[in-house]
Parts: sequence; structure tokens; C-alpha cells
Amino acid sequence: MKAGDSLKHFTAGMKMTPQRMAILEFLEGNLDHPSADDVYRAVSARYPTMSCATVYNTLETLRKRGGLLELSIDPLRKRFDPNPKPHNHLICTVCRKIVDVHIDYRVELPAETAADFEITGNHIEFYGVCPECKQKAATGNRPEDNG
Ligand SMILES: [Zn+2]
Ligand SMILES: [Zn+2]
Repeated sequence: MKAGDSLKHFTAGMKMTPQRMAILEFLEGNLDHPSADDVYRAVSARYPTMSCATVYNTLETLRKRGGLLELSIDPLRKRFDPNPKPHNHLICTVCRKIVDVHIDYRVELPAETAADFEITGNHIEFYGVCPECKQKAATGNRPEDNG
């Protein structure tokens, strides 16, 4: 197995402008599950002429081509995952950080409960509090005190 399919494999025939290249570079190997806004903010720092529309269009094109997963775990905004291989996710209920979980749970839906569907996949969401948020809670959210 290759170590992750490059997003470039999903760009055949796309007009690759410097802006689009910058979006791809930002997404490649990105484990933060960024929202469109996150992508826009990160990339427009380098390309001030970047428009939101370019970001949305590029994300949507890559998603349709199977290079990006769109995650709906975060109720506040759609998040994108440049790893289109099936995997599960942990989400922090405080800061909305999303972390990959790569365990094959082999969830099987017994035929009698599958309503005659042909099952093509599943996705498990785990909710919790990440270490950073746990620590913040433990220290009562104080600004760092310097001893
Ligand atoms: Zn958190
Ligand atoms: Zn993921």
C-alpha cells in the first residue's frame, strides 16, 4: 500500500492555478480536518487574491472526485478530510478538534436489519474531551501563571 494517495491524483483535467496548488498543498497530509474557512484563512495569508469561491469550488471539485471526504460530525461547520480511505473519528466536544481513528471495527449489519440495502460503508464518531481541553478545565481556564 502506498502511504496515502496524493490529492494530485484527483486533479486530472483541472486547471491548476497557483491558488489551487496552494489549496492542494495545504490539504495534502493535513490531519486537522479543516473547514472551508480554515482553508481560506490559511491559504489567503499567502495568496491575498484568493477568493472564498475558489476555495469552495476547489473543495467541492475534489470531494466529487473522491479525493476529499466531507465530514458532518461538527454541527457548526462542514469539515474536510484529505484522507478518503474509510476511517473513524474522535471529536472534542469543547474545541471541535477532530482526530482520526484507524481501527477496523468491522461493524456488520445483520441482513435482517439492513432493510435490503447494499451496505457500502459505515462511520463511527466518538465524542470526548481532548487532552488540551481536559488540562484547561483542570487548571480552571486560568491564563498561564508564571509560578
Ligand atoms: Zn479540545
Ligand atoms: Zn479523518
